[in-house]
Amino acid sequence: MTSKPFFSNLLIFTVSVFIISGQMINKKHPVNSEVIKAQELKSIAIDKKHLLGQFNYKTDNGFVEVDAKYGNKKGMYLQKEVYEAFLKMKVAAAKDGITLIIVSATRNFNEQKMIWEAKWSGKKLVNSQNIYLTIKDPVERAKTILNYSSMPGTSRHHWGTDIDLNSIDNSFFNTEKGIKLYNWLSNNAATYGFCQPYTKKDIFRPNGYEEEKWHWSYLPIAKQYLTVYKNTITYSDITGFLGAETASKIDIIKNYIFGINQDCNIP
Ligand SMILES: [Zn+2]
Repeated sequence: MTSKPFFSNLLIFTVSVFIISGQMINKKHPVNSEVIKAQELKSIAIDKKHLLGQFNYKTDNGFVEVDAKYGNKKGMYLQKEVYEAFLKMKVAAAKDGITLIIVSATRNFNEQKMIWEAKWSGKKLVNSQNIYLTIKDPVERAKTILNYSSMPGTSRHHWGTDIDLNSIDNSFFNTEKGIKLYNWLSNNAATYGFCQPYTKKDIFRPNGYEEEKWHWSYLPIAKQYLTVYKNTITYSDITGFLGAETASKIDIIKNYIFGINQDCNIP
């Protein structure tokens, strides 16, 4: 691993975001012009460490712990504004008989590295296989892991803007309960700022992760992260884990980070 110039860690981008009464992406209910006012000019400092998940969200200003009653475990954290948006969405869902439960929130680089390396080294089976033994080509092995797990430094879960809801098992979304949940989110999540980045793969989304009906992203902040990611992160930043050399060969930034639902993407 090469050492980076000192100043690269000091690079801080300040992105100013107008949040217009939370209605910016609510297409269903046109907003009364009197209601439209710039509530506040938010200033979000996004540096490389936060983009790559190389920080401690438990002690980071701006991150809050999810109340255990809204999740399936303790110790989950989100950016404060994301958590507030989730709580509003949860109340609305409850009125329609839907219970939203957070099953995964922020994960940092080290946590993602543990998941990735366990699969890479064969300690954790992928599709019931030890892929360290069965897939010799590093690029093919990485692509197999990438069907569902992100490479460290490239996960949206690093940002504190993304949540997994209710179940990360596809079969759940084929049950009556799962279908009802997904339909509700598809119709209503945008009202609260949330978008599903990993939709069904088709001609509009040919690359990237397989469909994840459980993964929702809070766009007012996530889009700012994506913009700064595009402008600052290069393959020399995606390093420090087994198989990192495959990142540029797969062109993970283009195909995975930006291989998302166009409704969640930046221009
Ligand atoms: Zn997720």
